[in-house]
Amino acid sequence: MLASDRYRPIVAYCAHCNSQIDPPGDLSSVSIGTLFRCPVEPTHLAAIVEGRTGKFWLKCRRYMRDYEFEYSPFAILRKQWKRWLPDAEPIDAGPYLVLRFTILIIALVMAASDVLLLRCIACAISLFLIGDILVAHLSIAFVSQFPADPLRSVTFALFSFFQLAVAFGVFFAAPDPSFSWVGKENEPPMRISWLNSLYFSLLIITTVGRGDILPHHDASLLRAIISLELIVALSFLVSVLQIMTSWSSRHPAAVPKDLNELPGPKS
Ligand SMILES: [Zn+2]
Repeated sequence: MLASDRYRPIVAYCAHCNSQIDPPGDLSSVSIGTLFRCPVEPTHLAAIVEGRTGKFWLKCRRYMRDYEFEYSPFAILRKQWKRWLPDAEPIDAGPYLVLRFTILIIALVMAASDVLLLRCIACAISLFLIGDILVAHLSIAFVSQFPADPLRSVTFALFSFFQLAVAFGVFFAAPDPSFSWVGKENEPPMRISWLNSLYFSLLIITTVGRGDILPHHDASLLRAIISLELIVALSFLVSVLQIMTSWSSRHPAAVPKDLNELPGPKS
């Protein structure tokens, strides 16, 4: 949508400097969302935005990018790796994904134990890693936008999708008894093993719903977790598709432009 079609003020805004930048030309013919290089520091996230809402969402993208590159476990691991082995190749996302997967499987097995403390720790680990998967992935989809290699990005995204299933499996294994097998609905609810939790979680995340394991009729917390998993997983899948389509139709707004390159009469 062109800037001239909108009512709210259109500005060139840098989410790092938190300030508007006077463009050399007229913004009315520039698409909302077009990125440009901040004159203060070229790595800043700066774009043509509309009103306060536009600034707010650009700032959200900026914080996601900060998380991806500065504060995520992967970013911290990468920095430590460089400190320990300055001459080695920088660590790639692949080994980190395998590490995260291993931690999630350990958390899943812990969640199925009878020790309450272990179950709580498992839930905390899983909750944190669900956040990590989502923020890192959304950041790649909406901020970085250009995958280093498309095949690698999709492989990693699908692996992360599977990890979401494992992470939610923790919340099916950890709670007090709340499941029933089909045909035994009138018996007292029971807990399920870590393998069955993973199986149940995979059925939910793929929206298959085979229905041989069911939430017990008064397990309302479990229903809430299932609903949450469905929403999270579907949003995640949509963003994977978004990445895939973004390389086939490389949107010009995704390439940072110099302020001087923006169209419009120069003042
Ligand atoms: Zn800036």
